[in-house]
Amino acid sequence: MAITEEMICITCPMGCTIQVTHEGDTLLHVDGNTCKRGQDYVQRELTDPRRMVATTVKVKEGLHPLVPVYTTAPFPKPRIFELLTEVRKLEIEAPVTKGQVILNNALGTGINIVASREMPHIQIANSK
Ligand code: SF4
Repeated sequence: MAITEEMICITCPMGCTIQVTHEGDTLLHVDGNTCKRGQDYVQRELTDPRRMVATTVKVKEGLHPLVPVYTTAPFPKPRIFELLTEVRKLEIEAPVTKGQVILNNALGTGINIVASREMPHIQIANSK
């Protein structure tokens, strides 16, 4: 049975509202997208929705107790909760460097979790 619904394209800051008619993951009609990327976005949303994920990881003996981290590529949306559960269990040793791989091949997806900033060791940071 065909369904018509609205989706907001998050590919660029325009944020077009797109009317989408689909039957399961088969796209039948799109309207409201300003460019072709909107149609591509809708197709991906129907077949393999993904999002960039940003969160924090505990740091042992860091200047701050948490370091911000992010996925190196958009992550499969249905598995984000599972990913956050895994990341919450991690505790890494300071110092942390910007771009350091915190979790390699997260949940077997081939996507890494990396630090988005450095986090010095508390003693080294306080001795400067
Ligand atoms: S449809 Fe095109 S212009 Fe509109 S939000 Fe998506 S990428 Fe941007």
